[in-house]
Amino acid sequence: MAHNISVDISRPDEDPPPQPERRHPNTCPVCHSHYRDDELRERLRVCGQCGYHFPVGARERIEQLVEEGTFVEHDADLRSADPLAFVDLKTYTDRLAAAELATGLGDAMVIGTASIAGRPTVVATMDFGFMGGSMGSVVGEKFARACDLAIAHDVPLVCVAASGGARMQENILALMQMAKTVAAVDALHEAGVPFVSIIAHPTTGGVIASFAALGDVALAEPGALMSFAGPRVVQQTTRETLPDDFGLAEANLRLGHVDEVVPRTELVERLRLLLGVLGGEPHVEEVPEEVAATNGAGGPLGRLRHLWRFRRGDDGQG
Ligand SMILES: [Zn+2]
Repeated sequence: MAHNISVDISRPDEDPPPQPERRHPNTCPVCHSHYRDDELRERLRVCGQCGYHFPVGARERIEQLVEEGTFVEHDADLRSADPLAFVDLKTYTDRLAAAELATGLGDAMVIGTASIAGRPTVVATMDFGFMGGSMGSVVGEKFARACDLAIAHDVPLVCVAASGGARMQENILALMQMAKTVAAVDALHEAGVPFVSIIAHPTTGGVIASFAALGDVALAEPGALMSFAGPRVVQQTTRETLPDDFGLAEANLRLGHVDEVVPRTELVERLRLLLGVLGGEPHVEEVPEEVAATNGAGGPLGRLRHLWRFRRGDDGQG
């Protein structure tokens, strides 16, 4: 007599983990508008229909932010060593080589000097396309060198983060970069050099837990996930229902972790304002009405006034 044995191991009360959606990288995941690459590049990779912010590579980000022809790259030749001879499904050296071929980058961060809105700066940008923007010894070293460069030139550091966190293939060497980059930011503070941190989607793990969260001014792009662990992991661990915007830039703005959520199309204009104020110029009086209205006296505008007075040596009164 045959018995039917159930082999169904699904648990109906749990949602299946989301499957990666198969779509063209230039198709908007929200409204499904499709763009030619040159068209998308032209509009700073922001969907013209719904405002979705597509990912931006490290070099294209520099093109978007800095004045044409002003970027001079530093330390482009830094490459990771593999002292642990790490192997998962592939060797670490194979993964590095594949990432370099795919992105044209030596690692997940590009640094250099440039001019943004007429102001000399040091720029550091991350590339999620290079092993998930993970931070290993090269990203840590490049960020630290960017800080050194900003101190040496006495110009602000502008960093755009996009990272899945520490690079597991480098193990403790990757985790050590958290302490190293935090110490580098500390050196910036000691030297009185401003640091503007821009958080792009996604910035998680060891990067949001170190330098990306330490800007004197922290800006984030709309919809950017910026949390130590992703919502699914937190949900599974705590077994609590999380708000829909858990870990997103907008929630972090409400909680005070970021100063402003700035659409990519307004980023250069906002940097012009910020770098002016941080450079000791009274641009704070020119803060557009709508910015003042959305942020209020206790928000970044108030902090900007404070920073401006601080750099001028005023007492902060009046
Ligand atoms: Zn769209």
